[in-house]
This record gives sequence, C-alpha cells and structure tokens, in this order.
Amino acid sequence: MAEYGEIRRLWALDAPQLTVDRGLLVVGAGGEPVTIPAPSFLIEHDEGLMIFDTGLAADGAGDPAAAYGPVAEAFQIDFPAEHRLDRQIEALGFQTSDVRQVIISHLHFDHTGGLVHFPGAEGFIGAGEMRYARTADPVLHGFFREQDLDAAAKIRWRELPAGYDHDVFGDGSVTLLSLPGHTPGSLGLGLRFQDRYLVLSGDSAHLHGNVDATIGMTLDADTVGKLDSLRKLRLLESRPDTTLWVNHDPADWQEYRANGKEVSFGR
Ligand SMILES: [Zn+2]
Repeated sequence: MAEYGEIRRLWALDAPQLTVDRGLLVVGAGGEPVTIPAPSFLIEHDEGLMIFDTGLAADGAGDPAAAYGPVAEAFQIDFPAEHRLDRQIEALGFQTSDVRQVIISHLHFDHTGGLVHFPGAEGFIGAGEMRYARTADPVLHGFFREQDLDAAAKIRWRELPAGYDHDVFGDGSVTLLSLPGHTPGSLGLGLRFQDRYLVLSGDSAHLHGNVDATIGMTLDADTVGKLDSLRKLRLLESRPDTTLWVNHDPADWQEYRANGKEVSFGR
C-alpha cells in the first residue's frame, strides 16, 4: 500500500433527471427547458468507500410522485427504477454499509434522497446547512424533504466552517471545498488523481454558464456570497491541471461519462 492514500476508482452513478426552465438555473436565461442529471459520485479510496451526494429517494424510483408528490411533475422527474442508489452500489459488488463516509454538497432534495441508506456513517456537511434546511422560509421549504432530513439525523456529521477547505485524509487526495452562497453550507469536492485534479461543483454552479459569466441562480440564499464561490471555481478551473465538473450541467455529464459510469481522470 502506498504511504499516502489514493483514489482507486470513481463512479458517476446513473442519475435521475429533472427538467426545469433554464431561467431557474441562470438568472435572466429563461424561456427554454433544460434536462439535468441529479448525480451521486461513488469514490473508492484506499481508506474505504465514500459517496458525494445521494440523488433522489428509492421510494420514488419508477414512480417519482410516490416520493415527491406534485414536485415530481413540477420538475418533470424521470427516475427509472434501476437508478436506485442502493441497487447501483450493490451491482458494483459493494454493500451500502461499505460506504464509510458521506459528503453532502447541500441538503436540497435532489441531493439527499439516498441518505437513508447510510445510517451510522461518518458525514461531512457545511456549517449551518442543517439549521438552514430545518428553518427554510415558505418559498424554499419545498426544496427540503422531511424524511431525508430525518435520515440525515442518523449520520455522524462533521461540519466544515465556511471559508475553510479540508483535506480529509491529509494526503491531498480528497478535499472538501467551501463554496457557500447557494445555501449557507454548500460544498464542492476536490479529487486528486495522478495527472488531473477534478473539482466537483455541487450546486455552487448549476450550469457551466454560471461559472463562465459569474452569474447565480434564482434561489440562491446569499447572492453576493454565491458570486465569490463562482469566482473560486473560475480560479480553480484556470489551473492547467484542473477539470471543473459542474454536476447538474448536462454537457459536462455527457462529456465526462462518455465511457460509462466509471470515470477516469488519469490514475
Ligand atoms: Zn441540485
């Protein structure tokens, strides 16, 4: 075994899709629908399995309205039964109990559906995120799912303070990136491969255009703070060794999953 841990494999698991007006995701860009994935990333590290975001709830697989009610239609949720998170993890030869660490970009429902599969895991979350989710104003209340927040209460969270990036294993292989603005505790993830550094945006950007134009989305909790997080992503992306994957962006999804769910950014 190497002196320092490394990422062995990375999967961008098959994702449910939502269809929304582009203007929801990029201020001022309204008028046409865009279909976006709701991803989960499974990371096999020398120290064990980790997951970044957990997509939609198994109760809604094959029948989104069963879990999401009118939200399923409002977001035109497309969630084939075989895209259930737990089944996909099992199909790769693991158990959900093998996932030792859960990292959540934020607590909106399209990221928290699978938290129920990981009770007792160690988790990482941005500071203030849980309180924000539990005290959402009426406009934003529908973006949080009570059952998922209850499942979240069974995870042993460590909170990342805003403005601090955390090297999880102390070897540079997995770094939590503080990217507040969309929500108070929004996180991204930096993954070090031998040849490339991969940045997963979480929802600090929804489409790559948010980053390119430094422009937020309509439901950001802190619109000014969000712009700083977008500037941080732009800086990271300017490094020659770095790829920025905007997780809801359909073009990024297609490009980086061109060879299937196991994705490669060099060893
Ligand atoms: Zn999202």
